[in-house]
Amino acid sequence: MDATGRKRIVIVGSGVAGSILAYGLRDLGNVEVICLERATTEDHAEAGTGLNVGPNAIKALRLYQPALAALLEAESLPWLSWRISLTGGRELMNLPLSEVADNPGIRIRWSQLYALLRRPVQQQVRFGTEVAAMRYARAGEAGPMVVETLGEDGSTEIIDGIDLLVAGDGRYSKVRETFLGRPQPKFLGVCIFRLLLEDARPDLVDDYEQWFNGPNRLLAFRIPGNATYISGSFPILPEEDVPAEAKRPDVLRALYTPADGPPSAQCAFMIDAICSHVADIHWARLQEAPAEFCDSNRRILLLGDAAHPMVPTLGQGATQAIEDACVAAAELRAAFADAADGSIAGALERIEQRRRARVEFVVDFSRQATDTMLAGADPVSGSLAKTGPDFRARLMKLYRDVSAA
Ligand SMILES: Cc1cc2nc3c(=O)[nH]c(=O)nc-3n(C[C@H](O)[C@H](O)[C@H](O)COP(=O)(O)OP(=O)(O)OC[C@H]3O[C@@H](n4cnc5c(N)ncnc54)[C@H](O)[C@@H]3O)c2cc1C
Repeated sequence: MDATGRKRIVIVGSGVAGSILAYGLRDLGNVEVICLERATTEDHAEAGTGLNVGPNAIKALRLYQPALAALLEAESLPWLSWRISLTGGRELMNLPLSEVADNPGIRIRWSQLYALLRRPVQQQVRFGTEVAAMRYARAGEAGPMVVETLGEDGSTEIIDGIDLLVAGDGRYSKVRETFLGRPQPKFLGVCIFRLLLEDARPDLVDDYEQWFNGPNRLLAFRIPGNATYISGSFPILPEEDVPAEAKRPDVLRALYTPADGPPSAQCAFMIDAICSHVADIHWARLQEAPAEFCDSNRRILLLGDAAHPMVPTLGQGATQAIEDACVAAAELRAAFADAADGSIAGALERIEQRRRARVEFVVDFSRQATDTMLAGADPVSGSLAKTGPDFRARLMKLYRDVSAA
């Protein structure tokens, strides 16, 4: 609680979930919201990535935060279709999203998404401020919770009297590690890399597409600013890091070149781009961990990747962070409008009730949809199965099951 008796909420991280939650709580008179973000406003660490954000996130934003939805839709390109082919050119699936979703998704630059989400909450976010330590208050400290921050200039500060601490600090969440323990990641045995090409060829690559050569997959789409986002994946041993040899241009070229002929014009463009920009590639491994939303005292709320790190196969990481933040803001607003004692614990319980089953469905579906990217997979039968009724029904559930309460 602050000096004027307002409840104090500290959000760690002004990423996707943290920024939207701060926005959703910005005008509550009886609550002080402080968002702590270690990145500075000049930090462009994620500039090299594009994102496709699912129709379900846009549906949630239109429902809960329509001004934010309008802002994102105005500054992005619509995601309208999903096509799957072989790198030689044979088409396996071509799905207009309108058949399984109520509205389009979006295609956007990661740095642009962060900039758009952070702009309306600039007053609440302390940039260049890392949360270095946190705890339940010790004797003599104002509780229930306390965080210690480290500024970019080396200065330190203690923020006490925190009624609710929110983990919006992403996949390697220090909040989750401190209060719930470090989650054990499960690696799927797939390397994924991403490259942002400051060059667009809309005649070749425009809306969201994937191309397979065996289990080795390319994925690409155009994003605003005349750029093409390309992501590649290939199987590796689950317990091993990405082998250095796999990062060589000749090895990458071979991974995506069909054995029985030349690559399609689309794939030739992407393979050449990858091989001539190897130094700009970001490398990662597909991994997930069990979902957690609260600590046992119900004073810590986990959102986004801090709550449920998942594989990016269906483009649902940021998408679910958006759904989380919309629901969390609505429940916290309802709790603070009521201002009853114990309202925070009750709100956290309701957030978990509303989110757990949905998130577990998305985590499972994302893992199952990775089937065609695993060692030994047959992308033809696997992709054709994705045109069948079972996969389509699950896509409809994924993209449409967003409700007001
Ligand atoms: C290869 C790849 C491709 C992906 N593609 C997609 C996609 O197409 N679509 C999609 O929806 N998702 C995708 N994702 C996932 C998506 O990027 C994440 O799920 C999403 O960013 C999670 O949002 P978040 O708010 O939980 O965390 P983040 O957006 O990661 O934000 C966390 C914030 O916390 C800050 N922070 C961390 N620690 C501290 C600290 N101690 N103190 C202060 N600040 C801190 C960070 O600087 C950051 O700003 C992809 C992920 C990967 C790896």
